[in-house]
Amino acid sequence: MLPELEEYQKHLSQIFESGWLTNYGPMVQKLEKKLAEYLGVRSLVLVSNGTVALEVAFKALELTGEVITTPFSFVATTSSLVNSGLKPVFADINRKTLQIDVAEIEKKLTEQTTAILPVHVFGGACEIEQISALAKKHDLKIVYDAAHAFSVKYKNKSILSHGDISILSLHATKLFHTIEGGAIIVNDESLLEKVRAIVNFGITGPEEISYVGINGKMNEFEAAMGLCLLDKVDGFIEARKKIADIYYDKLAGKVEFQELNQDATYNYSYFPILYKTEEELLAAIKRLNEEDIYPRRYFYPSLDTLDYIDNADVCRVSRDIAGRIMCLPIYPGLSEDALFKVIEAARP
Ligand SMILES: *Cc1c(COP(=O)(O)O)cnc(C)c1O
Repeated sequence: MLPELEEYQKHLSQIFESGWLTNYGPMVQKLEKKLAEYLGVRSLVLVSNGTVALEVAFKALELTGEVITTPFSFVATTSSLVNSGLKPVFADINRKTLQIDVAEIEKKLTEQTTAILPVHVFGGACEIEQISALAKKHDLKIVYDAAHAFSVKYKNKSILSHGDISILSLHATKLFHTIEGGAIIVNDESLLEKVRAIVNFGITGPEEISYVGINGKMNEFEAAMGLCLLDKVDGFIEARKKIADIYYDKLAGKVEFQELNQDATYNYSYFPILYKTEEELLAAIKRLNEEDIYPRRYFYPSLDTLDYIDNADVCRVSRDIAGRIMCLPIYPGLSEDALFKVIEAARP
């Protein structure tokens, strides 16, 4: 989604006047404040993308060894671990909620496990209490990949206030975006200054470098995009809900839907549907393509099949689901005409 051009131009004029392009400038500072307020979280650090947000989180928590995660996610959840020298250990998912299965996490614990990296997949909420209890019992850190969970509330509180750290992706394809971007929500306040430093090369003072850092800074042009879009997000969610309600109504009984956590709100950022077989899915994709509609096979393949993970544990449920699922188009501005075309072609 794009804002009105004039509105973005107004922000551009301010950037051109100040000449401050990047390095924690006024737009980034303003967006951090507004976002924290909107989301209902105490501390939030904006970064260049969601993948960097994950890698900074791992560095700040000084994770080592093995991290238990879900194979049913976008590839960055796993590749960020590999790039950080950590071993992803996959715990299979629940076939109804598509979220990481807590009983499976417990089975994968070893002496080397230092953290759990669950994903609130498609904006549905994980089993937060059980994951917290497990982490506490075994003295593990929790990083939530909340890339899909913008604005989601869990038991009337921001879902992002769970875990030692939660991260958001603010990529152009996400519900709320800054072109490219991400956010780190630091719930262990003692880590906040460390996270800020790591994002900025590990620099902690004019002549002081305390950490092995990274360049993870968001720039002013990206923050300006966020400032133009933030007050429109609730409207976007409203518009998506209208589309989702029609999908639910017209496709009920024909395909399966993700089971959502009743303790959480929903942001309608994706509309996944599950077919009985992969053949049924591929036939539907073919019909959709003939109508010039190109749905995404999200998430496919299951990440436990990645070639670059040695000896990954096979996750049967995740592989089965990945083979039969896709996400239907859902965005404000999807015309009624197009919507009914999608429904016709998607119906098995
Ligand atoms: C989009 C996404 C990411 C990566 O975010 P980028 O901003 O694209 O780097 C990570 N995890 C999940 C689940 C995502 O959907």
